[in-house]
Amino acid sequence: MKIYNTLTKKKEEFCPIEPGKVRMYVCGPTVYNLIHIGNARPMIVFDTVRRYMEHKGYTVNYVSNFTDVDDKIIKKASEEGVEAHVISERYIEECKKDMASLNVMPATVHPLATQEIDGMEEMIQTLLDKGHAYVAADGTVYFRTRSFREYGKLSHKNLDELEGGKRSLLVSGEEQKEDPLDFVLWKPKKEGEPFWESPWCNGRPGWHIECSVMSRKYLGEEIDIHAGGEDLVFPHHENEIAQSEAANGKTFAHYWMHNAFLNIDNKKMSKSAGNFFTVRDILEKYDPMVLRFFMLSAHYRSQLNFSAELMEAAKNGLDRIRAAVSNLEFFLREAGGEEPREEEKKLLVKAQEFAGQFDGAMDDDCNTADALAVVFELVKFCNIYANGQSSRAFLQALLDEILVLTGICGLTVEEKEQILDVDVEALIAERQTARKAKDFARADEIRNMLLEKGIVLEDTREGVKWKKV
Ligand code: AMP
Ligand code: ZN
Repeated sequence: MKIYNTLTKKKEEFCPIEPGKVRMYVCGPTVYNLIHIGNARPMIVFDTVRRYMEHKGYTVNYVSNFTDVDDKIIKKASEEGVEAHVISERYIEECKKDMASLNVMPATVHPLATQEIDGMEEMIQTLLDKGHAYVAADGTVYFRTRSFREYGKLSHKNLDELEGGKRSLLVSGEEQKEDPLDFVLWKPKKEGEPFWESPWCNGRPGWHIECSVMSRKYLGEEIDIHAGGEDLVFPHHENEIAQSEAANGKTFAHYWMHNAFLNIDNKKMSKSAGNFFTVRDILEKYDPMVLRFFMLSAHYRSQLNFSAELMEAAKNGLDRIRAAVSNLEFFLREAGGEEPREEEKKLLVKAQEFAGQFDGAMDDDCNTADALAVVFELVKFCNIYANGQSSRAFLQALLDEILVLTGICGLTVEEKEQILDVDVEALIAERQTARKAKDFARADEIRNMLLEKGIVLEDTREGVKWKKV
């Protein structure tokens, strides 16, 4: 599998540190509001990378944090007259609900910045001991940026150019920095803010240190993939590299993956600009799978402009896949012969080629746009060759293939229609007739069909009882 690495600006063959295992860290949201669909893009994209890697047999240790202490959280808390943790806890819960709707798998660990302060203090102390950091008069601890020779290697920025830009941007209080490029590791508390004790001052960590620390704690000093939106390349990820590599003396992450922006009217969707739709806004109108499909219909490194037309196109695309799945399921219920016929065997060999093409697209830097195009080819193939006369084996193989490929994309495509009570009664009656006729295969089939729809049958002396589970 090839991955485009922001660090080298090249597609590189993915080669994990430990064979068969992937250590992956994805920067998560700052929790002070409901997440918007721009925030959902990295969640969906990197969840799909994870699913594909798991499909290829890797065990993925996937860590994604919640930034639960930050100026914006504190501001929101003071507006509502509550403590900061009330805000962050509320929006972590809401974020998890949105992730579940979008079928984003929970991370192996979702660490919280506020629970990792000891580790942050320890790393800051190491940086101080190694001369990579210093304490200013007011207790602020700064990272000495020029002490890390490779600073700028991820964002491909030149230190002197950066410095030129920074000098004019110095804000009050920053005169105490040795160099305008230095950034905060620890800052003194302000009145009414949450704080922790530390050897330097009562205060709280800067934003960047949390990811360096959580990544090391849960994945080790050296990891395979570090990911996030492209706005994080500079300064967040550049600073993470400086902190981690200066403290640990090891390469921090081997592959850096960044998704491009989700735009609206060709501008980045963002909370601060106010031009956003929350995931909740969209779910009022659309099935969450339509949003997931929409996100995956573009390559993750291409900008994606949100529009009603593209959402409609995504809805139509998803409906097409669902219709094919529902047809296959219908034919399967009616199918006669078990074994595939000779011409079906040949067709199945052809159908398998779609799986190979799908993998080819995903192996090429997770090109979900091309991978979905292959799913449509498979759907077309099913629409042409599957019918009421097909054998069970043939239909099942096609259905399984669609479900595996859409499953890698995290798209649920099986109809979960509500079965009506009258239909259940009719099927139970049919099953009784089948049993009387000693057609136990059909009877079992009906029982399983109902089970799939969440209906459990119980044969009692008084007759058949059923319940929904
Ligand atoms: P934030 O809560 O702003 O720290 O963002 C959480 C994650 O969402 C980060 O990986 C950001 O890069 C990403 N993100 C924020 N806005 C967008 C956007 N409009 N398009 C794509 N990714 C975004
Ligand atoms: Zn981060």
